[in-house]
Amino acid sequence: MKQRIVILGAGESGIGAAILAKLKGFDVFVSDFGKIKDKYKKELNKYKIEFEQEKHSTDLILNAEIIIKSPGIPNNAKIILDALSLNIPVISEIEFAGRFTKATKICITGSNGKTTTTMLTYHIMKEAGLNVGLAGNVGTSFAKQVALNNFDYYVIELSSFQLDGMYDFKAEIAILMNITPDHLDRYDYDFSKYIDSKFRIIRNQTSKDFFIYCADDEITKQELTKRIIKACKLPVSLNEKFDEGAFIENENLKINYNKDLFTMTIQELALQGKHNTYNSMAAGVACNILRIRKDSIRESLSDFKGVEHRLEYYLKVHGIQFINDSKATNINSTWYALESMHTKTVWIVGGIDKGNDYSILEQLVKQKVKAIVCLGKDNEKIHKAFDSIVDTIVDTSSMSEAIKAAYFLAEKNDNVLLSPACASFDLFQNYEDRGRQFKHYVREL
Ligand code: ADP
Repeated sequence: MKQRIVILGAGESGIGAAILAKLKGFDVFVSDFGKIKDKYKKELNKYKIEFEQEKHSTDLILNAEIIIKSPGIPNNAKIILDALSLNIPVISEIEFAGRFTKATKICITGSNGKTTTTMLTYHIMKEAGLNVGLAGNVGTSFAKQVALNNFDYYVIELSSFQLDGMYDFKAEIAILMNITPDHLDRYDYDFSKYIDSKFRIIRNQTSKDFFIYCADDEITKQELTKRIIKACKLPVSLNEKFDEGAFIENENLKINYNKDLFTMTIQELALQGKHNTYNSMAAGVACNILRIRKDSIRESLSDFKGVEHRLEYYLKVHGIQFINDSKATNINSTWYALESMHTKTVWIVGGIDKGNDYSILEQLVKQKVKAIVCLGKDNEKIHKAFDSIVDTIVDTSSMSEAIKAAYFLAEKNDNVLLSPACASFDLFQNYEDRGRQFKHYVREL
């Protein structure tokens, strides 16, 4: 009898898992409580995989031997609780796919910087000629690539939701960028549960594996005193020097690994701003471990094009620089965006607040921000935090209005920065939609 695998959620990861499971000979069933996109239905039909949509039929689901859950479905969804009460293992697509590949996996997590560091690491490896796949939250799912490609390496971006469903999986190189409160609604508002989830990145690692982390991150630092880390630890830091890892000395980024020194000036880095220096360091350390030629790493760190919606210097209009940082959906990422502003800034902020403490931004706002344009349905918290600090704060409720207001308030050589510190769902479909609209209305000026 074939083992029955049920996949809940028919998005990118679910479809990938379904294809892999089918090709590996399992009895596969896909169930999505919402509507399945046409392109995914076509794939399911192509591989003759049974599915249902807009419902979860318990009789077809709870007879599974393994359930693969999309990271979007919360652990307390009824169907998941039912499965767990029957002792059916519920795993993530990454866990499942990890069982079918011998490739070296470089896995990246953190509250901020995951996508940038993942794309940058992939860029360096690809340019160096390695046979590498890019997976996780970005692009094609890991499972689908394991099913259809034959990569020697994978660079995988992992959110805490994906990590939660991982048990036997092991990252040969694990990167933890930072930990700041995020998504607490999914962790019973218990920060320690979110921290534990992030630390699953080092699960199953042995002394032959590597753990790259940010030594300037307070939470990570505290946790390292409590946890046993078996892997070789390689810190990155802007403030301290270590025998091994990445650090800054006289405006040079230095990576010391295996008694071999890599150096390049920070001005040469394609990605500017302190947060991006961490990202370049982490990617650089990983690629040094992989023994990629130093020249090649240096070149890729300096010619990387950046990722859309992440501190993207978009256009200058009459000497005003418009910067799209729509992906900044929490205070920490906005902190780094403001920190990297070198000229007076009109700041567009707002949306759905995930419990923001705006006081963290007070000093930077005093130094850098000349006017605030609120862009959200409810801007009360922003007013409360900044009315007494910034002279001009205006309310807008569409991107076109926000851009007009910002353009009016900015002068030549100023920046207009969209770095909302909030989710976008009150006025936009998602952060990409928000970023695209930003660019659209800037072009129209
Ligand atoms: P993630 O995938 O973790 O959401 P991204 O690379 O998409 O991270 O970046 C999200 C936001 O965080 C952007 O606004 C970006 O400018 C900012 N950011 C990028 N790297 C870091 C970092 N290391 N620390 C803090 N903020 C960062």
